Amino acid sequence: MTERKLLEKITAWTGAPGEGIVRGIGDDCAVFRPRAGEDLVFTTDFLIEDVHFRRETHKAADVGYKALVRGLSDIAAMGAEPRFCLLSLALPEWADNRWTEGFYKGLLGLAAAHGTTLAGGDLARAEKLVCDIVVCGSVVRNKALRRDGAKPGDALFVSGLLGGSALGLSTGKGKAWKKHLHPEPRLALGRAVRDWGATACMDLSDGLSLDLHRLCVASNVSASLDGELPLFPGATPEQGIHGGEDYELLFTVRDEAKVPEDFDALPLTRIGTILEGNAGRIRIGGEFELLPMGYDHFSRS
Ligand SMILES: [Mg+2]
Repeated sequence: MTERKLLEKITAWTGAPGEGIVRGIGDDCAVFRPRAGEDLVFTTDFLIEDVHFRRETHKAADVGYKALVRGLSDIAAMGAEPRFCLLSLALPEWADNRWTEGFYKGLLGLAAAHGTTLAGGDLARAEKLVCDIVVCGSVVRNKALRRDGAKPGDALFVSGLLGGSALGLSTGKGKAWKKHLHPEPRLALGRAVRDWGATACMDLSDGLSLDLHRLCVASNVSASLDGELPLFPGATPEQGIHGGEDYELLFTVRDEAKVPEDFDALPLTRIGTILEGNAGRIRIGGEFELLPMGYDHFSRS
């Protein structure tokens, strides 16, 4: 298939442009018109064959889903709503027409489920599949949730159950594998968290120990983990603490804020408290410290 033919197909799969897209696929640039009184938030993610997925275990639609879901999770963590995405895709020889269609179906199905459209992109050939996606979201001006607002005394919450993705990756089957392949972006929760007056929020992409460390460094605070972590059935405490790709939300609120026990059947658990000083250090079982051992691309090279 020629690039032009593929582009025609992608345009057809993409369908009508979403709200705010004045000009979508087919021009030199996409044109997007924001609403009055909103800030736009942007996130970008790589998805690289043999780094982020393996074609032996991930179907085409799973790869497409994964390409977008990580960006949507970042948009959720900002308390924003996704508006459009831009996708650069380099396809290797093994990715035939059927695979490519499956990839776009996986990506565009998830986009449609969350009111997002593909507004443009680029295509190329490469040795391995490389995908780079930009997701743009919007949020009421000055209301984006950030990582740097946690204050001593704040309560620390997490959504859902931890360690499912790591468990799934190790077993390759069951509900945990599903959780690994198809994490739900917590978009509605992110906006609710914003409405509850959260002081800081981020999504758990690289594991609680590393991501909480990052939140604490950004906010110049430390944290104490107390109580039991909500573990995915079958996951070990290590998978719950250090396992990546759960894509749950980690957030802090003032101690007196009212956070429900669950949100649309998703459990919300208080797992700790923000403390003064020792930026980035995490106390567990009353002592310092939990080492940030989550996933870091640059620590294993
Ligand atoms: Mg994130």
